[in-house]
Amino acid sequence: MAVFTIRTLPDPALRQKAKRVRTIDGSIKKLIADMLETMHADPGRVGLAAPQIGVSLRVIVIGIPEQDDIVLINPGIVRKKGERLIGEGCLSVPGYTGQIKRAESVTAKGLDQNGKEIRVRADGLLAQALEHEIDHLNGMLYIDHLESMDKLHKIEPEETEL
Ligand SMILES: [Zn+2]
Repeated sequence: MAVFTIRTLPDPALRQKAKRVRTIDGSIKKLIADMLETMHADPGRVGLAAPQIGVSLRVIVIGIPEQDDIVLINPGIVRKKGERLIGEGCLSVPGYTGQIKRAESVTAKGLDQNGKEIRVRADGLLAQALEHEIDHLNGMLYIDHLESMDKLHKIEPEETEL
């Protein structure tokens, strides 16, 4: 396992549409272990998508404090409910936060590490993290959801980042 450097803008890896995982083999299991280790290397990190460490594959991990880690392979949002305005940040856009619209609750589905299909129903931070990390797989960043760039604010680096 290894802790990887997080890619930041304007790294082109962040703007590619990531490829579907076809077989969950040893290399995918190693990627997941590396992603979990990289995420847990800093307690402010609550989620990570493979493109953020330069791997263009559809794999995300989420680690909300005091909850079990979630690993999703080839994930997608299957249901969204409601709308809310919330502050968001990203490890790949360090030092900034912005107010964007996210769903109040979402249902995501994908495969776990054993290839079994799982569904995650979430609200709060977990719903936000699922939307944020799945956006990364489509080359999208939260700043793309801003109404305008002057809604972006500088922050201290300790705040929660996805
Ligand atoms: Zn992010």
